[in-house]
Amino acid sequence: KYKELELKVKEEQQLIKDGVEFSKEELDLYQHNLETLRQLSRLQNEEKMDQFLKSYSLLGEGKELDGTKGFIKEDIEVSEQSKWEDLKIANSIFKPVNRKRKAYSKSRRKRKTNRDKKKRGKGHYSGSTSSSYTSSSGTDEENAQGEEPNDYNLLLQNPIDFVKDAVMSGTLDLDKLAEELKNKKELQRKERENKQLNERLSMKQQRASLPIYRHREGLLEAIGKHQVIIVVGETGSGKTTQIPQYLYEAGYNRKTGNEGSDREFMLVGCTQPRRVAAMSVAKRVSDEMDVKLGHEVGYCIRFEDRTNKDTKIKYMTDGMLLREFLREPDLASYSVLMIDEAHERTLQTDVLFGLVKDVARFRSDFKLIISSATLDAQKFSEYFDDAPIYEVPGRRYPVEILYTKQPEGDYVDAAVVTALQIHVTQQLGDILIFLTGQSEIETAASILEDRSRNLGGKIKELIICPIYASLPSNEQAKVFKPTPKNARKIVIATNIAETSLTINGIVYVIDAGFIKQNCYSPKTGVESLVVTPVCKASARQRAGRAGRLCPGKCFRLYTKWSYKHEIEESSIPEIQRTNLGSVVLLLKSLGIDDLINFDYMDPPPSETLIASVQQLYALGALNNLGELTTLGRKMAEFPLDPMLSKSLINSEKYGVSQEVMVIASMLSVNNNIFFYPKKGQNVTVANNAISAFYVTEGDHLTLLNVYNQWKDSNYSTQWCYENFVQPRALNRAKDIMEQLQNLCERVEVALKSNPTDKIQIAKALTSGYFYHTARLQRNGEYKTLKNPIDVDIHPTSSTFKEKPKCVIYYELVMTTKNYMRTVAQIQPEWLVEVAPHYYTQKE
Ligand code: ADP
Ligand code: MG
Repeated sequence: KYKELELKVKEEQQLIKDGVEFSKEELDLYQHNLETLRQLSRLQNEEKMDQFLKSYSLLGEGKELDGTKGFIKEDIEVSEQSKWEDLKIANSIFKPVNRKRKAYSKSRRKRKTNRDKKKRGKGHYSGSTSSSYTSSSGTDEENAQGEEPNDYNLLLQNPIDFVKDAVMSGTLDLDKLAEELKNKKELQRKERENKQLNERLSMKQQRASLPIYRHREGLLEAIGKHQVIIVVGETGSGKTTQIPQYLYEAGYNRKTGNEGSDREFMLVGCTQPRRVAAMSVAKRVSDEMDVKLGHEVGYCIRFEDRTNKDTKIKYMTDGMLLREFLREPDLASYSVLMIDEAHERTLQTDVLFGLVKDVARFRSDFKLIISSATLDAQKFSEYFDDAPIYEVPGRRYPVEILYTKQPEGDYVDAAVVTALQIHVTQQLGDILIFLTGQSEIETAASILEDRSRNLGGKIKELIICPIYASLPSNEQAKVFKPTPKNARKIVIATNIAETSLTINGIVYVIDAGFIKQNCYSPKTGVESLVVTPVCKASARQRAGRAGRLCPGKCFRLYTKWSYKHEIEESSIPEIQRTNLGSVVLLLKSLGIDDLINFDYMDPPPSETLIASVQQLYALGALNNLGELTTLGRKMAEFPLDPMLSKSLINSEKYGVSQEVMVIASMLSVNNNIFFYPKKGQNVTVANNAISAFYVTEGDHLTLLNVYNQWKDSNYSTQWCYENFVQPRALNRAKDIMEQLQNLCERVEVALKSNPTDKIQIAKALTSGYFYHTARLQRNGEYKTLKNPIDVDIHPTSSTFKEKPKCVIYYELVMTTKNYMRTVAQIQPEWLVEVAPHYYTQKE
């Protein structure tokens, strides 16, 4: 009967598709049939699921079950619609089962509840306070001690309800598209073919298939005619990888004879706001040009220069180019410079704008390209004296936007559940998840791995690819590998994947709706990383990533109400919300004294400028006239925060420069030093190994201890694994140390060592970090000195249990609280000793 009905409904659907008109009665009947069919299908599903679960639990976890393999797959493929309704069916598959949620770990649970609290408190995304999630979190705690539900229960026990919204229009002809869509099977077949073709396609053909390719001549002509142009184009159209190659091919590396550089070739430079992007794009371009990375095509990021004298195309972070101004204020080595991802408006990019605009004025042979992914390029054009805007039209299919019905308390968990929901209900196509940072990404990846492992052959293969800055490059490369047939890739990324990296094959986007942003208060001097909601412009970019291959879907883990009412149109440029210490020091070193009247696209708040100048004065980098001191000049040489540079330079006085240099290197590895145990590993062994390194006086000395022990093991990798230390992180620290050593030599800081004198080391650190001090209160909590705010020691700190009376910290991270990360115990008297101009005896 079911089959009969199904056939009938299908026939009618075909008729509707073909445009046959239905009378009202006929339509009613059709809808009735459709609803009956759905009900039946649901019943059938539940029955199947019950059967499946019964036999499954008889067999026990992890055992394969004949006949049920591919159970889910069958279900999904039977239902013709790929609509979101499927989800409901899928939900009903899982619903009758034990709906208890397993607690993954204590800390996660705690974090989640905290997050909930914070959300409620702050009222963010609080369209309604009774999110399905919040209400269930209480039960979590209760169930934690009870029976542990099996993992199959965990797949979708708390499904997330989405509401469909309008489709974000694409840039493609919709009529034509509708035509295409009419025959879905045909489209699918084409896609498969396309994919296979793409895999076989040579690099040359791939390059020629990019939207920018048709604009090659036009672009080169525009660049030839104008000194500055603005290029705007959809993400993935080929701006970053192609334009520098076009310039190279057009001979922009040749010297004409009167350039100021002593290089044999001129450089074509391209800046990126992110390290990962600079590395990955350079790798891609070197592959496309079939040359070795680091030769013709290279990159330069902080503490890593992979270019040589043959380099013609150089990708670099915007921060690195900024530092190059110290050596080469006229950028004499460059014939063309492309400032890419200009819409990101990072602090460094914004400062570069002012500097390169100036270079363009006095170097007529210098070409400048500003490239951006957003259409709002008018502002750039106006800033660069009405430079012409060159638009590269991209291609994008329409993307269906879906919102959650209720605010989600824990977006990491919600993202995982949504990804699995998509996996079991939606056609194949890769998923891209946007989260805010490494630890969230790792958490999500490990939960996904666990759950998909437990489901084994019952679902199609999932390939989980995290991507963030400190991931080793071979892991990063995994993201770009084509997904094998019959598998689905889930890429979990920060907003690096928003515009900087284009990953082919993404059809579904899950947008958690948050980013980690710098936040600075000139009044309190407190700088912290805060998880904040994305802006609408970002949300749109994220959604757009789903529509490159075919029509896509974007699942936003927030409500439509939030999107409309709680999210800003665009984000505030970084220059207006960050500490400007490093930049002010750099500008001062470049001889730019009038900081207020510097040519900013958007000026920073004057209080921030003043606060930075005051801090540099307190550090001794500026004198009372605001002029750069010898110390300041030395500090600017180090690609470190002024406070860390100061500690390092000053450490010579305390006879511990060798030790502080190691600490500075370890701090600069923006990576976890330890392997924190994952679920299922022997937690006690790992924790014991890690805490064996702990030095009660603080984390700086703990870092030193780790490094020295590693050194004693003759830099052994084996030792690292035995002690739960990340060998990659330590090797990088070693590299950084060698570079810091060269810089120390250059500015004549003598290397002295006194490894056992913890007090001298802590004093040297305090001489740079007296701004970052906090004191224990009677109530057992910490307050920062001067402009006090409440802070706490991060639980991973070696001083967490000890609770020293007075501490300095390396950074503040705002999650559920203001956490001080990397903390050292100090004596209050030292403050007066190391910074008498800043602290008086009374403090
Ligand atoms: P845009 O800068 O306009 O956003 P890109 O130049 O970054 O575009 O990317 C152009 C194309 O090159 C994209 O379609 C992308 O798929 C491909 N691509 C870029 N980097 C890689 C890589 N590392 N591996 C494979 N393909 C890549
Ligand atoms: Mg790009």
